[in-house]
Amino acid sequence: MIYYWKNNTVFQIDTLMISQDRIYFYEVKNYEGNYFYESGKLFKKPNLEIMDPLIQLKRSESLLRQLIHSLDIHLQIEPFIVFVNPAFTLYQAPDNKSLIFPTQIKNHIHRLNTAPSKIEERHRKLAKRLLSMHISDSPENKLPNYHYDKLQKGLICPNCRAFIETIGKRKYVCTLCNHEDLLDNAVLDSIKEFSILFPDEKITTKIIYDWCRIVPERRIRNILLKHFTKVGHHRWSYYIYK
Ligand SMILES: [Zn+2]
Repeated sequence: MIYYWKNNTVFQIDTLMISQDRIYFYEVKNYEGNYFYESGKLFKKPNLEIMDPLIQLKRSESLLRQLIHSLDIHLQIEPFIVFVNPAFTLYQAPDNKSLIFPTQIKNHIHRLNTAPSKIEERHRKLAKRLLSMHISDSPENKLPNYHYDKLQKGLICPNCRAFIETIGKRKYVCTLCNHEDLLDNAVLDSIKEFSILFPDEKITTKIIYDWCRIVPERRIRNILLKHFTKVGHHRWSYYIYK
């Protein structure tokens, strides 16, 4: 999956190819079973309506067109939906040249192989621009909701991600995988995770003590003093990264 920003909009392109005179882009669908079109809508048999991929394709095409025009590049765009599963049948298929069915994939590849493909600077410019706009994860694909109170507290073994059950004075040994390391390192990892999960929370002895659970409060304070910069005094003090 690839996503691009355009006017604060995200759109998705599974595969994109730039050739001499046109851009091919593909949405890949792995539908299986019997489907049919009726009154401009797509159904899975017997009668489950599903999102019409042609509508999605139109939207992506329009955004991609705006994007390449903004770069002053004039290439034709050919969008396709490829149905890759050989056990897919579409009844009453619309006569739409954007649809590629399993039996047509071979011909399509042949057509691509015989198309002219002299690549110039403008093509490279476009490719570079598209790559620069690639965002690995869609912001629509947000993190799951989580709440401090509902998360299990404790130190986590960096090797197997199990909770550490017992600690020594300076070291711990994971009971699950026997990984051994300095306690300070596990606490520092845990603080890092805390500040990623709760970027607005101040790092205090009290909260980190609660977050790590099995490490004595005194020890937490010492680790914070050693590795962080203390801000403020007494019970209002907190720590920031050095
Ligand atoms: Zn472990």
